[in-house]
Amino acid sequence: MAFKSEYIARVYDDVAKKNANEPEFLQAVKEVLESLEPVVEKDPSIEANGILERIIEPERVIMFRVSWVDDNGKVQVNRGYRVQYNSAIGPYKGGLRLHPSVNLSVIKFLGFEQIFKNSLTGLPMGGGKGGSDFDPKGKSDNEIMRFCQSFMTELVKHIGADTDVPAGDIGVGAREIGYMFGQYKRLTGLYDGGVLTGKKVGAGGSLARTEATGYGLCYFTAEMLKANGQSFEGKRVIVSGSGNVATYANQKATQLGGKVVAMSDSNGYIVDENGIDYKIIKEIKEVKRARIKTYLDYVPGAKYVEGCKGIWTVPCDIALPCATQNELDGESADALIANKVIAVAEGANMPSTPDAVAKLQAAGVLFGPAKAANAGGVATSGLEMSQNSQRLSWTFEEVDQKLHDIMVNIYKNASNAAETVGQPGNLVVGANVAGFLKVAEAMKWQGIAY
Ligand code: NDP
Repeated sequence: MAFKSEYIARVYDDVAKKNANEPEFLQAVKEVLESLEPVVEKDPSIEANGILERIIEPERVIMFRVSWVDDNGKVQVNRGYRVQYNSAIGPYKGGLRLHPSVNLSVIKFLGFEQIFKNSLTGLPMGGGKGGSDFDPKGKSDNEIMRFCQSFMTELVKHIGADTDVPAGDIGVGAREIGYMFGQYKRLTGLYDGGVLTGKKVGAGGSLARTEATGYGLCYFTAEMLKANGQSFEGKRVIVSGSGNVATYANQKATQLGGKVVAMSDSNGYIVDENGIDYKIIKEIKEVKRARIKTYLDYVPGAKYVEGCKGIWTVPCDIALPCATQNELDGESADALIANKVIAVAEGANMPSTPDAVAKLQAAGVLFGPAKAANAGGVATSGLEMSQNSQRLSWTFEEVDQKLHDIMVNIYKNASNAAETVGQPGNLVVGANVAGFLKVAEAMKWQGIAY
């Protein structure tokens, strides 16, 4: 699409030229810039302060070698990343992803999105992201540990409770955070709880952090449904993926009265018309570290289909994509619309292609964008940081209540911002505008050091 604002068109042109081989990054930037047209038009100080050029360029990109020894004694080399994107409103904060698809484009898109998401939570956290192209699948526990230790041996130089606080993401759960935390402690001699979030409960971790992204997604979705006279009660729900976000999205959607009829992994999807029990998924994925196909051993009446894309053809009222970027394309959106889906809310980061988002919005489907809908994870990481600073632990109920309140607020702020710019109900625009304005103000206030 052509931008109306000459300033935005110039900025995007420049970014596209400089980052021509980074498609995911450009996709994320384009969506944000499209949303910001009305704001930029109204406030010339954004251009005068070069806010867009600055917010798009990461403050720092760190790329490093991670060498480790596999179980056969062979040396393996992976590439590690940490993008310290924007520290206008707080220390850099964002997860670490371990997946063979990780490259600079993916980490930059995630880091860029994280700036606005973190701003939306209302907590003082800047944006960052990191990870490696290391593939945890099929690796032994010892190999995972050696990789994590080597990764942290470099990362230690760049992180700290007041500078940059990583957490988990795809391929990084409590086990990996534990190995990294152990190595950090060994290298620094500090029990510095505030340096990583997603820690084990009892060792500085927060209750409800594990559940937070999935729960938060459902709290946000429930709020979006409520504003439109609907609820989860009696609805058929699809949750793609079967990792951390998907598992707890299933649990909360079920608690709120929905029935989760389909879930997936990167090989295929299962359909269980009686509702998928999240405890079985947890056992398959977290304990056995097996494929989702194994669900049929527990529930022989369920169905398994090879290939994950077909999950969107299963009839549903609510779709929660919780696996990975660009997993829901235009064709999948057509299938959802044909089956009369009411709401789509993104648990994963950028799971819907621009084509899919346009189609869903045009069809009047309620659409909750990732920046807003999945912010519960990082919000609860922020609550973990608060508890670490105070050297206190809150109860599960206290954290869950705070998470709930934050998600309701995010919905309200995104919804109000959408109205302010004359696009009521467009939460994509609303989330981008609300997240951006706070960071832009802080950047102006701090001058142009960055
Ligand atoms: P996990 O590693 O726990 O789970 C990822 C799930 O997605 C697995 O079921 C995996 O299947 C599936 N998956 C991964 N890659 C693909 C692919 N290319 N195609 C289809 N399925 C795939 O990750 P999380 O649940 O933590 O993260 C899921 C998404 O949520 C990501 O986009 C992440 O950035 C986002 N997110 C996570 C937060 C968190 O707190 N963890 C916070 C906010 C967002 P398989 O086992 O086959 O690989």
